[in-house]
Amino acid sequence: MNDDLKKLIGLQEIDSRIDRMFAEMEEIPREKRIHKREIQSQRSDYENEKKKIEEIREMNRKSSIEKENTLKELAEFKNKLLEMKTNEAYRTMLVQIRYAENKISELDIKQLELMYEEESSEENLKETQKIWERNEKRFQKRQNILDGQLKVLEENIGELRIEREEIKSDINIRLLDKYEQLRSSGEGNVIVGLNKGACGGCMTNLPPQTAVEINQGLAFTCPICGRFVIWLDDSSFAGSG
Ligand SMILES: [Zn+2]
Repeated sequence: MNDDLKKLIGLQEIDSRIDRMFAEMEEIPREKRIHKREIQSQRSDYENEKKKIEEIREMNRKSSIEKENTLKELAEFKNKLLEMKTNEAYRTMLVQIRYAENKISELDIKQLELMYEEESSEENLKETQKIWERNEKRFQKRQNILDGQLKVLEENIGELRIEREEIKSDINIRLLDKYEQLRSSGEGNVIVGLNKGACGGCMTNLPPQTAVEINQGLAFTCPICGRFVIWLDDSSFAGSG
């Protein structure tokens, strides 16, 4: 095979490695964003639970005041009951006493319910806090690992770029320009294998004679996509699998 083509293949291998590393690098901020969103949502679960407890306590406070007031009213009603002069007025006062007593027992039930609610909310609060804090710690560790990976990738890319420059300086400039031009179009490999008698890039069938020449190691440029077509280990002629 043409020496320049061999060097181009070396260049392509380096470029593929650089591409893969860039793809890995792009994954890192994506993963961080996912973690951050997750932690934010766990933190807001915690904040919501905290708010809920405050609301329960506020309701409890209000119903305590209401109960106190009702108890005072009840005491007044009971005092007045003794002063009632007519049966009618006495009965009316009794109705008011009954009403106040009912209200107090309803408030007692309500307070008991609020107490249970508060207890379970407090447990939820502890649980959500645990989940949130645990994940934050875990993410901190993961973040350090990811930052380390990022640094390694950057270093590796830097080294590969130096290696690339060395190989590049040794390749026929016309061939190199063509390679760079095709590569910048972003359609994958520039040097492809003959695949069942066709260009491995655009799958256009090539004349049998061309396939034979490629098999013998000649350089060939696909007339359709412009890629370099070469013979690879898994290359084959048309119809030969
Ligand atoms: Zn092609």
